[in-house]
Amino acid sequence: MKAIVYFGPGDIRLEEMRDPDLEAASDAIVRLTASAICGFDLQIARGSVPQMRPGTILGHEAVGVIEDLGEDIRNFEIGDRVLLCPTLACGACRQCRRGHYAHCTRANPNGPSFGAAMFGGPAPSGPFHGLQAEYARVPFAHTTLLHLPESLSDADGLALTDAIPTGLFAIRLTQLRPGQSLAVFGCGPVGQQAIAFAQRIGAGRIFAIDRLASRLEAARARGAEAIDLEREDPVEVIDRLTQGEGVDCVIDAVPIDALPSRLSAPTELDGNSHRQRNGTTRDRLLPLLETLRSAELPLTDASEQAFEWSCAVAGKSGTLAILCFQPGQVQRFSLASALQKNLTLRLGTCHHRKYLPRLIEKSQTRRVQEHCYGSRALEDEPLELLSMERSIEQRFFDLSPWE
Ligand SMILES: [Zn+2]
Ligand SMILES: [Zn+2]
Repeated sequence: MKAIVYFGPGDIRLEEMRDPDLEAASDAIVRLTASAICGFDLQIARGSVPQMRPGTILGHEAVGVIEDLGEDIRNFEIGDRVLLCPTLACGACRQCRRGHYAHCTRANPNGPSFGAAMFGGPAPSGPFHGLQAEYARVPFAHTTLLHLPESLSDADGLALTDAIPTGLFAIRLTQLRPGQSLAVFGCGPVGQQAIAFAQRIGAGRIFAIDRLASRLEAARARGAEAIDLEREDPVEVIDRLTQGEGVDCVIDAVPIDALPSRLSAPTELDGNSHRQRNGTTRDRLLPLLETLRSAELPLTDASEQAFEWSCAVAGKSGTLAILCFQPGQVQRFSLASALQKNLTLRLGTCHHRKYLPRLIEKSQTRRVQEHCYGSRALEDEPLELLSMERSIEQRFFDLSPWE
């Protein structure tokens, strides 16, 4: 099969790889019909993620059709259309039974003390081959796979895999209550979703901080107060606009190298059915490869900067939610201001499997306008991603706060 494979920083290739086989009774083999690029993939391509093993297939956001099933999988059939959770979970251990799927103690072959097992990640996350390929082996398929209804397109499914549940997870971390104020640093796909969920909860005020006009515009369209960090000091602005009170909750969704997530929109995304396979594998994987290869280098201090700003804009007894992956090179944070303000710091990896069943279910309950995927926004892929997620998000209007 064809797959996008990591060989080293800046060395990402479209390779011929061996087709995956069932290796355990709880495995499935999925033929992938659409795959997306996450900001995390760009960090890998840039060499910002330590301990990536050369030869690993990249990608953790995909949808597809089941081609083969191990004998212990009872909730799916061959031919079912499925969405793959980015993080793997056994469904049986104590952490899984509590809904803490990213903490599954059995899915990560490195052992129970290691973090989330995920597709296409560094050695400490498995490693497992990723989903920017024609086929994937899915361990613990009974938990890791979810049925993707025909009413949702492949593009809907891609938006649902990671950005939407992670945005919801971020809001859950903040424990935002109606009327409270929120600042979101980093308004890429995850930040946008967090803003959308905050609006539904009834946030009193939302500040959106980014450097890209398209993202600020999207945030403003959702009712957020936009702050362009290239033009203004967000700490000064929020201090002034809140009369020195700061905000109740902060989400730090800034990636380590602060470049936007991108998503290729290959031909399959034009149709609403996975059966409408207009393009070849080459059509589908090559744009992903080009985007990964064009990822620019080097590391920045964006992560520390975002943390400092987050602490600075948080009001006393505020809550700060930190989402992003922190590579080993960047770990110097001053906790002084957090301590002085009695801030609550909450951080972690999204428990995708916890949120996805209801997100998929809710996404079908509203009849919405159809999507506009007709032409791919070649010059501005982040906008393409945003518009896609906006379209699916309109299905969630009626969400009450999620528990
Ligand atoms: Zn992702
Ligand atoms: Zn488990």
